[in-house]
Amino acid sequence: MFNISINTKMKNYLFSIYLLFSVPSALIAQQDSIMLDKIYEESLYRGEAYTNLHYLTKKIGHRIAGSAQAEEAVNWSKGLMEKLPFDRVYLQEVTVPYWDRGEKEVAKIVGSNESLAVLALGGSVATPKDGITAEVLEIENLSDLEKHGENVAGKIVFVNKPWDESIVETGVAYGLNSSQRSRGPSQAAKFGAVAYFFRSLSSSPDDAYPHTGGTGYTKGIDSIPAAAISAVSATKLSTTLKANPKLKVYFKQNSAWKGLVETHNVIAEWKGTDKPTDIITIGGHIDSWDVGEGAHDNGTGTMGTLDAMRTLMVLGYKPKHSIRLVFYMNEENGVQGAIKYGEEASQKKEHIVAAIESDAGGFAPRGFDIKASKEKVSWIQNNWKPLFEQKFWVSRFLEGSPGVDSGVWGRQFPNTIMFNFRPDPHRYFDLHHTEKDVFEAVDRRELQSGVAAIASLLYLLDQHMEEIQ
Ligand SMILES: [Zn+2]
Repeated sequence: MFNISINTKMKNYLFSIYLLFSVPSALIAQQDSIMLDKIYEESLYRGEAYTNLHYLTKKIGHRIAGSAQAEEAVNWSKGLMEKLPFDRVYLQEVTVPYWDRGEKEVAKIVGSNESLAVLALGGSVATPKDGITAEVLEIENLSDLEKHGENVAGKIVFVNKPWDESIVETGVAYGLNSSQRSRGPSQAAKFGAVAYFFRSLSSSPDDAYPHTGGTGYTKGIDSIPAAAISAVSATKLSTTLKANPKLKVYFKQNSAWKGLVETHNVIAEWKGTDKPTDIITIGGHIDSWDVGEGAHDNGTGTMGTLDAMRTLMVLGYKPKHSIRLVFYMNEENGVQGAIKYGEEASQKKEHIVAAIESDAGGFAPRGFDIKASKEKVSWIQNNWKPLFEQKFWVSRFLEGSPGVDSGVWGRQFPNTIMFNFRPDPHRYFDLHHTEKDVFEAVDRRELQSGVAAIASLLYLLDQHMEEIQ
């Protein structure tokens, strides 16, 4: 009896210890799982990102920073935020350089009826009024310029480096070639080139559309006009050049910088109950390039993060930390919005504990790249990944880079854990920065399941921020 009684007491004691340490976390995991179910149900049944995206893309349209449409998008987004129970919605002033494409570009192979599909690179200067007629020098890499030496002078340098289709993570393939877009014109001008053609950064070899994107000039070197040429036109020009290396191309474009414009970031704050001075930032950029409708880049990121917050609000959630939604201006050609956000936040010595950015399209969600220590990333893999993986098919939680905007302001906030939303990567760089990036290219269900993944992550971060170690 005595022994049994001791054993029973011991068992009860051990059980209470077990309750103290094990059951609560199991209960929490169960609560989290129930909450994620509710989030998915709300987003897939009643999500509003897709409807809002329709207005942004069809009624406002593309919106390069400094344009009237960009400011219209700012004011309209502010109105959307004001309809939700945020504690504060406001505009943050941002000064941006405004670049205007002007009249449509023309490029033709002289002496033939062959037109080439070209689009001025963002930030490029115009050609002279009568255009440029010149021979073309095709190279694959800027490093080839050296060996052509004096032969470059007076020519249009044409960089024709194919996309590496074997890379599944298309962002990596994009990154392999993108510096030739940004640095190319000045490199070519150093050798006396009169213009610069750049094979579009497209994942599709059959792509007839040129893809724009930012370029820049080095001080002290002549600024030459630069344009992206579609994959199909690049292949055509290359083939024609092989038969006739002396062929000439006529090229005219009208783009120019038009000075500085006052515009805004759009910000909404939802105050935390327990730790109101600890901030979680979520958002994406509201500007786009000046072609297409900026649907995947980045209408889905802005409308998606807003809808993630709406989802938590309608479920009656009360955040512990303050959550701040930011629509950044000017990610595409200057990142002035993110710079301004970082400056103000660091002046105020704000405590931004985490950030989520969505700027990789509105395709089916795959997961998040995480900028944090290896230990923290593996904690997240162990504790959160299982909640997403089986039911929701979201399984990528890997150490990686933040989005462009959070990366920029994050230089002043090195300890902030940053999450970069990663949807399926296969189709993004077929549409990116082209006429094809329109509302019709977005699928409602894919977009809303991305919203659910983002809202789920936001909820988990708010609940368990202090446990991540
Ligand atoms: Zn973008």
